[in-house]
Amino acid sequence: MFLKTTACKYILLFFLYLFSINLAVAQSEPPLMPVQFTYKDFNFVPGKTCESTWIDNSFCAATGPKPWRSEEANLMIDYLTPLYSGRLDAFVRNILNKGFHSIHRYSHGFKPVGNGKYTREEYAAWVWIYDNSINISDLALVPNLPKDPIGGFELQKVAILHEFSHAFSSNEIELMDEFYKLTGWSKHGDAYVLANTDIREVYKIISQSHSLMLAGQIEEAIKLNRNYGIKHGFPTAYAMVNPGECFAEIASHVFFDSRIHEYLKPEIIDWAQKRVLR
Ligand SMILES: [Zn+2]
Repeated sequence: MFLKTTACKYILLFFLYLFSINLAVAQSEPPLMPVQFTYKDFNFVPGKTCESTWIDNSFCAATGPKPWRSEEANLMIDYLTPLYSGRLDAFVRNILNKGFHSIHRYSHGFKPVGNGKYTREEYAAWVWIYDNSINISDLALVPNLPKDPIGGFELQKVAILHEFSHAFSSNEIELMDEFYKLTGWSKHGDAYVLANTDIREVYKIISQSHSLMLAGQIEEAIKLNRNYGIKHGFPTAYAMVNPGECFAEIASHVFFDSRIHEYLKPEIIDWAQKRVLR
């Protein structure tokens, strides 16, 4: 039972979404939430409740907004420590200048299901660009997860830097154009397409990886996701899903994966270090 629960939670760390909500549904600004803890420039605040906000009650039923416990805040501070290693000063300044100061706490992730309604979906964290919030679910705070079997890094630290990379890339049109050219993404109609990539195969790999997770074969699942990406010159298969996820996966892995030079083009590593991770 324990193993199965752990596996179910773990699988979903792959899903590190960037959501933006249709502003047309916004009727009033949510009230300011009380700050519980602060670390450097970031405030730890409870998840937004649905009373007296524009968010539909189904959002709160799905996500379970709640306050931070002090031990959770300490774990989160551990994840944030790399931001203040002295190697990411400009990166952090960029995010703060965009107004990303608040880190909210929820039990679960969510998925919009249309008509302003939401349902529960499990993933570790998300960034909202409509209110510049960073949002953390229980999954990001599961203690003692195994490390990445290829790079040996802590998966949750990569997950958090992945989210901050979404915050960094918001409203960076020129920067992202450079990134698309460098990594092989081009626009076809409304969709971005990655050169030399069978997107159905990418989704198949991600789906197979999830099945392995559900069967409790965690290491095999991560290896499948990573090895497929690595074979194609990316950190993960997930990096090949769309350009936003590609950017966040590359930025977080360039920072944390000591084996990055074995699979990512040197010019992409160089660009990420000069333009993003500084
Ligand atoms: Zn993401």
